[in-house]
Amino acid sequence: MNLPAMDVAARLSQLRAALVANDVEALLVTRRPNVRYLTGFTGSSGMLLVGADDAVLVTDGRYAEQSREQLAAAGVDARVEIAPTQEAQRDVLSTIAAPYEHLGLEAHGVTWAQQRSFAEWLAPVELRATTKIVEGLRRVKEPAEVARIRAACAIADEAFREVLPQLHRQPTERDFALDLEISMRRRGASGTSFDTIVASGPNGAKPHARPSDRPIGRAELVVVDFGCMVDGYCSDMTRTVAVGDPGPEARRVWDVVAASQRAGRDEVRPGASCAQVDHATREVIEAAGWGDAFVHGTGHGVGLEIHEAPRVAKTVSDTLEPGFVVTVEPGVYLPGVGGVRIEDTVVVTDDGAQALTEFPKTLMIGS
Ligand code: ZN
Ligand code: ZN
Repeated sequence: MNLPAMDVAARLSQLRAALVANDVEALLVTRRPNVRYLTGFTGSSGMLLVGADDAVLVTDGRYAEQSREQLAAAGVDARVEIAPTQEAQRDVLSTIAAPYEHLGLEAHGVTWAQQRSFAEWLAPVELRATTKIVEGLRRVKEPAEVARIRAACAIADEAFREVLPQLHRQPTERDFALDLEISMRRRGASGTSFDTIVASGPNGAKPHARPSDRPIGRAELVVVDFGCMVDGYCSDMTRTVAVGDPGPEARRVWDVVAASQRAGRDEVRPGASCAQVDHATREVIEAAGWGDAFVHGTGHGVGLEIHEAPRVAKTVSDTLEPGFVVTVEPGVYLPGVGGVRIEDTVVVTDDGAQALTEFPKTLMIGS
């Protein structure tokens, strides 16, 4: 896959500006997607301490070579310290944190036990809780990040196109999900971006149903929510289809959710608030009388994580900016009947928005 280079090296200076704005002298980054975002390092264990003129990645011996290679490849100006044991990590961290009066921790990313260990290790440096500073930066995707999400969305589209005709053979939900996942892997995805949802008939009433051994019947709604990863970046899409005519009520629910999804997508543009986009989708479903059956928010940011900032929901006042990538995914769930959800991943552009999910929206795929 031919992907444009990302400017990883620029992110440390963006973070330093954000630290000043948040009145934090230095930040200990422990959330893996954030360490990856700032350094290019993809290992499973690593802590990154970023101060005004210093950045140190502390990891263990398994990643000695990989960490140095990845930081060099990304052109990131940070030092690597290898600390094989907990005691060694404590010593390294307390040495590099010593010049600071206080140090920010990612409050949403550390456990109570970790916070207590850090306080003990780093004393007398004062620890401060910070809220999603790196996640805030990650909301705006540079074009090379959008290219990765677009590639993941394209793979998902193509895989769905390939496996969709199999529904005529009435596979189980589990088999259909597996074939979809294999097709995405074969097309170059490194994996799924979350557990695939295939929910047919009454199972569709549960928004996050797990694929079961239930054969997908004819003339019933089937909700398929899935995505894959390309170079660490996620895609996310949902289509609801039926082999043959699922009947007038199901058709009406589908039409309303499709109209709601269009209304939400039309609202995505720079300057629109997340609440405004949520309102646009919800209004259509409420007008049809199914407001209580739309039991989740309208969408979420997508990037290195499948769910990231901003949330697209009723109470979120965040304003969309060019480079934000969000989903628009209204749904209606009727217990005993089934469900409909339709979801696209969309990038905010300078003057509007562009769908990265391109697969057509059609309910009936022939009988
Ligand atoms: Zn989804
Ligand atoms: Zn989603």
